[in-house]
Amino acid sequence: MKGFKLIFSGLILSVILTCCLSPGREMADLVLLNGTVWTVNSSQPWAEAVAVKGDRILEVGSSQAIRKLASARTEVVDLKGDLVLPGFIDSHTHFLDGGFSLLSIRLRDAKNREDFVARIRDKAKELDRGEWILNGNWDHQSFDPPELPNRDWIDAVTPHNPVFVNRLDGHMALANSLALKIAGVTRDTPSPAGGEILKHSETGEPTGILKDAALDLVAEHIPEPSLKAKLRAVEVALQHAAECGVTSVHDMASAENFEVYQELQKGNNLTARLYVYIPITEVEVYSRLKMKTPFGNDFLKIGGLKGFVDGSLGSSTALFFEPYADDPDVTGLFHSQMYPEGIMEQRIMEADRAGLQVAIHAIGNKANHTILDIMEKVIAQNGERDRRWRVEHAQHLLPGDIERIARLGIIASVQPYHAIDDGRWAESKIGRERCRTSYAFQSLFERGAVLACGSDWAVAPLDPLSGIYAAVTRRTLDGKHPEGWFPEQKISLEEAIKGYTLNGAFAEFSEAYKGSIEAGKLADLVVLTRNIFGIPPGEILNAKVKMTIFNGEIVYKE
Ligand SMILES: [Zn+2]
Repeated sequence: MKGFKLIFSGLILSVILTCCLSPGREMADLVLLNGTVWTVNSSQPWAEAVAVKGDRILEVGSSQAIRKLASARTEVVDLKGDLVLPGFIDSHTHFLDGGFSLLSIRLRDAKNREDFVARIRDKAKELDRGEWILNGNWDHQSFDPPELPNRDWIDAVTPHNPVFVNRLDGHMALANSLALKIAGVTRDTPSPAGGEILKHSETGEPTGILKDAALDLVAEHIPEPSLKAKLRAVEVALQHAAECGVTSVHDMASAENFEVYQELQKGNNLTARLYVYIPITEVEVYSRLKMKTPFGNDFLKIGGLKGFVDGSLGSSTALFFEPYADDPDVTGLFHSQMYPEGIMEQRIMEADRAGLQVAIHAIGNKANHTILDIMEKVIAQNGERDRRWRVEHAQHLLPGDIERIARLGIIASVQPYHAIDDGRWAESKIGRERCRTSYAFQSLFERGAVLACGSDWAVAPLDPLSGIYAAVTRRTLDGKHPEGWFPEQKISLEEAIKGYTLNGAFAEFSEAYKGSIEAGKLADLVVLTRNIFGIPPGEILNAKVKMTIFNGEIVYKE
């Protein structure tokens, strides 16, 4: 009886506490009211309002219900009908490079040779003698007429500054004569395995264009930027991410990036969560540490290991079974990480035994086929487990490999913007037939593969709305496919948003606490200026980010 009394009085006490005290304890720090909330949570897809407490979502529901969670101290945002989505997760960026690209010469929209040369000349005037001109992200496919640049274009305007400006995909770059001289690259330098030094057909002299592994010949002579310069680049990148509504990024990093991110995290200065991949060439270090990935905290994690099988389509280094349509002698290149033969399989085997996630770049159909063979073999040997391995790009696939990606449970880490960018000229490079199963988002989705969407920034713009637009319209940038380039590969708006939110969270093992708007999940949210569910898909590009909330705090307001 005594026991019963105790329990009973305890019950009364807890009832009193619930009635009188818990409202104070459960009050929100921030409420968003009168909105249109697409939650990406299938059990409650739509709502009007969200309450946030600390770094978490407290509740999601009607404005009436959420208003009750506001106290005098609560920040109240009246959305006036605006659309709220989970904060965007970009599953493939080169984040530090992206920051540097915002700070350096811009060649991406250079219209032609004259424009390209003028921009480099102007940049050289700003710099001291000897300072390098880097990045640029040019795209010769956008020149009128499309033509590869060469060092003769720019030597006269850059006599005292080494130039090493890359194509936007990072698989090809132009060096001026001074840069080639510093690197010791001459007509007698042979192309390295996995790379190419382009040479004039008549004179045999290097044209200045280097591809893939040959990039290192010059790159190793570029002075490493200081920590201060890198911090500045990441700060600018974070600011840009907040403007784009991006609250998490997966960074295909070099090992050096980590120091910069740690520094920013120490000062509580991260306004996006970073999930960082380290090159697979470092596998021994990580397996010796017995570190399982992901490793870290909600702000900064080591995600796994990133490797490469081939190059890029635009540089003709993506690896195919059949030759390129515009060059019958070329089928593409295996990346230098594929040499010596068998090394990729060994590394993935070692990574898997150590419990590490891998994310492997494969563009051409042969590259994809090769990596799927390796992954299938390793899975068969080591047995089933929750690996969440990723193929980065999965761009041009044999029909059977679309099936295989789904069957093996490999995540297709895709970049929809590439489809509308490359779609301008992909058919001229590989013909119509191979394009049918290129950027094949709908086929992958139908077969049951998880699509984790990303930008590949700085290769493409970071802005996820342009990626969502690309995924649902497939309208190429040249305006030549108003109904969509291979329109059967369009995906729905819901799937595209999921690709930039919940599926990105899945790709980093964190769907339990981010990627959708649900009570208990991290309060990462984005508010848009337009309800993209209520406008024609073609107008999605007009929508902008109005507000970005990261970790419960407003980090960007239009
Ligand atoms: Zn990339």
